Amino acid sequence: MIRMTGVGKTYPGGVAALTDVTMHVEAGELVGVVGPSGSGKSTMLHLLGALDLPSGGVVRIDGHDVAALPDRSLSALRARTIGFVFQQFHLAPGVPSLDNVADGLLYTGVRRRERRRRAAQALRRVGLEHRAHHRPHEMSGGERQRVAIARAIVGDPAVLLADEPTGNLDSASGAQVMELLGGLHAAGTTVVVITHDREIAAGLPRVLRMRDGRLDAS
Ligand code: ADP
Repeated sequence: MIRMTGVGKTYPGGVAALTDVTMHVEAGELVGVVGPSGSGKSTMLHLLGALDLPSGGVVRIDGHDVAALPDRSLSALRARTIGFVFQQFHLAPGVPSLDNVADGLLYTGVRRRERRRRAAQALRRVGLEHRAHHRPHEMSGGERQRVAIARAIVGDPAVLLADEPTGNLDSASGAQVMELLGGLHAAGTTVVVITHDREIAAGLPRVLRMRDGRLDAS
């Protein structure tokens, strides 16, 4: 599904965030990414989701070399294939859940009415149909993250990339979010999740360990 070969990423200013990373994620896998702060986990996730391009090496998503695609094709690939979930939820403040989720389909050419219908469906999948008209500040952190997951999956992406999705949650809400990701994985979605939580990492079928921008061999 996703393949990195000899990937490096250097940010402007010369910070080498990734060095010679070779890895792959097969379709349908659930993979964790762990490592100390600053070890390159988020950078790797951004490259896996084509939010950013490598400085060297090759990233292939669904067979496409991301560096070789024109911008428009890259955006289309991202919109069609990838869903993102972030630690800080990134929901639009003051906007009801239904519309926050429907906005996940904004750049897909789907009409508003259909976007809202699919958003209602996605909210059902995360167990929050009763929160469709609540705004983010009217919900708990766990509920907000589940809305963010609904937004990420509303377009039915093959791949869900989650950057510390439980980082701002108490352990009960965190467990619920992980259960939800596990359910999506069981239903066929490829899931890559960054986590600091050892207990969560221990429960995942495969874990990649990062250190100083490199993948540990273990
Ligand atoms: P992690 O997710 O493991 O905490 P990151 O991928 O965020 O690690 O960061 C890896 C390294 O790259 C760090 O040294 C960080 O300071 C640096 N870095 C991350 N993003 C940027 C950026 N946009 N510009 C410059 N340096 C960055």
